[in-house]
Amino acid sequence: MKIDREIKMKSFCVIGLGRFGASVVKTLVKNGHEVVAIDTDPKKIDEFKDIATHVMIADSTDERVLRSIEIDKFDGVVVAIGKNIQASILTAMLVLESGAKNVVAKAMTDVQIKVLAKIGVDKIIQPEKDAGSRVADNLTHSDISDYLDLSDDYAFAKMAVRNVKFDGLTLYQANLTQDYAVNVAFINKTDGTASIGKHDTKIEIGDILYLVGNKKDIENFSEII
Ligand code: ATP
Repeated sequence: MKIDREIKMKSFCVIGLGRFGASVVKTLVKNGHEVVAIDTDPKKIDEFKDIATHVMIADSTDERVLRSIEIDKFDGVVVAIGKNIQASILTAMLVLESGAKNVVAKAMTDVQIKVLAKIGVDKIIQPEKDAGSRVADNLTHSDISDYLDLSDDYAFAKMAVRNVKFDGLTLYQANLTQDYAVNVAFINKTDGTASIGKHDTKIEIGDILYLVGNKKDIENFSEII
C-alpha cells in the first residue's frame, strides 16, 4: 500500500533568479508553497513578480536585507547564486549565521563546494547534476518521497541524498546499517544509472536511495540523509 504523505504549505526564500533559481521558484510555487524571491537584477524581479509570492530587488550580501525578511523563519533557503562565488559564499554564510535551517546552495566549482560544505550548508547542488525541479520536489516532500508499509514496524522508503557528509562515500564507508540501522536495497544515480546497494556502490548528493528498515529508524535517517 502506498501512502500519500500530505504536502503541507511551507515558505521558502530563493536568492538568485538565474536558470537554476528560476526553476526552483517555479516548482515550489507549483507545489503550493510560499516563495520569496530575491535578486539584484530588476529585470529578473519584474519577470517573477507574478510568479513568486513576494519579490525583492536586493543584494543578499547585505545583512540588513536578510534581517528585514527574517531569513531565519523560512522552512528553507536556497542560495542560487553560482558564478559570483564571493556573493554565493558570503550570502550562504550570513544566512547560516542567522540560524536559518535547511539551507541549500548552488555550486559551480569544486572549491565552492568545499567552502560551502565547510561553512555548514546543508545541501549543495550542482545544477549540471541536479535539476532545479527535483530540488524543489525534495523540499516539498521533505525527506521521504515514497513510503511503503512492510509490516507494523518495518517499511520501505525512498529518499534523496542531501547531506554532504555522505557525498562520495561507498555504502561500506557510509556504514548505514551499523550506524543508522537502515539497509540500502537499490540506488538511482543522478547520472541516470541504477544498481542494487553493494559495498562498493558510491553514493553522491542527489542520488535516490531505496531502503528498508524499522519505521522509527527510517524517520530518523531521513532527517540525516
Ligand atoms: P544559472 O546558471 O542558474 O542561470 P548563472 O550562474 O548564470 O545562473 P549567477 O551568476 O549564478 O548566474 O546568478 C544567478 C542570479 O543571482 C542572477 O540573476 C544574479 O542577478 C543573482 N545574484 C547575483 N549576486 C546576487 C546578490 N548578491 N544578491 C542577489 N542576487 C544576486
